[in-house]
Amino acid sequence: MSWAGRATARILNTFLDPTIVLSYDRSGFRRHRKLFDPADLQVDLQGRVCLVTGANSGIGLATSKALARLGAAVVLLCRDPARGQEALESVQREGRGTARLERIDLADLASIRGLAERLAEPRVHVLVNNAGVLPAERLTTVDGLELCLQTNLIGPHLLTSLLLPRLQASGAARVVNVSSGGMYGAKLDLQGLVDPPESPYDGVRAYARTKRALVVLTELWAERLAGSGVGFNSMHPGWADTPAVRTSLPRFHRLTRSILRSPEQGADTVVWLAASPRVERQSGGFWFDRKQRRTHLVPWTRETPTRRAGLWELCQRLAGLSAAPQP
Ligand code: NAP
Repeated sequence: MSWAGRATARILNTFLDPTIVLSYDRSGFRRHRKLFDPADLQVDLQGRVCLVTGANSGIGLATSKALARLGAAVVLLCRDPARGQEALESVQREGRGTARLERIDLADLASIRGLAERLAEPRVHVLVNNAGVLPAERLTTVDGLELCLQTNLIGPHLLTSLLLPRLQASGAARVVNVSSGGMYGAKLDLQGLVDPPESPYDGVRAYARTKRALVVLTELWAERLAGSGVGFNSMHPGWADTPAVRTSLPRFHRLTRSILRSPEQGADTVVWLAASPRVERQSGGFWFDRKQRRTHLVPWTRETPTRRAGLWELCQRLAGLSAAPQP
């Protein structure tokens, strides 16, 4: 693209991005894409092992297909064997690399431990913590935790911790945590995470709290593992038309479906963070449409260092890990 075209895109972004709608929607993706460098994803991932949770649907499926097309050995981590098998076949049809399926239920800590124990691959180059839920009602997992908290935060934390030796063994590994733009409206609230105070239960608020916490947790991982060869980044995909949006936010979906992104557009930054040499040394960032973004839009969502430290301790405790960091 010409210099003038890029300058115009930048000016339009400055004015249209603060509207949120014209940034998170598909017009936002098309505008932001004008500033992408196509060379960023002209990479060969052959020999790289990439694990994707929630790989059978929406953004996770689009990510798995894109990584497999780039030649990676993709391991689809899915909770439902039938849905997982269907996704596996579609990834195998499209990919250049190998793909296989493993079962995991993030709402069951024993299932996460089981996966980590039986995983055949000694090295993991990429872990995408993509699976997520926005429950309609308050539900408790087999581990006694609120479902949204465990699926979106504690499960991914345990999985990352257990896979750390394999990530470090790969020499240069990346962890990509899929958050949400909804986190901008939430502050880090440790008590609210554990015991959502709203009555009746408000899934949107519980979800936003977990996604805020995931962004902070990613920064904590990046700080603790600095120099370890493992990079940690979080991102948000904008608004993509996926089963989660259709079922968890039916009214929102009805209103916005004509402007929602495709799952592939939502997955673009996940794939870029997982694969592009441009972000090889990046760690601790929060990204949207291949650009690092602020993590706070309003001052009242900022957290203190004490609360950040409390988040790490909370995740360790609820995941059944020791309080000490594992590097
Ligand atoms: P999706 O198509 O519904 O995918 C969600 C995936 O998570 C599914 O594969 C689902 O498996 C899996 N999952 C849910 N609970 C699980 C559990 N306990 N154990 C293992 N896997 C589980 O929705 P999506 O929109 O692509 O969501 C992917 C990520 O993007 C989520 O973290 C979501 O919060 C985030 N996100 C999406 C949007 C958007 O606009 N779509 C916006 C912001 C953030 P099943 O098929 O078995 O249910």
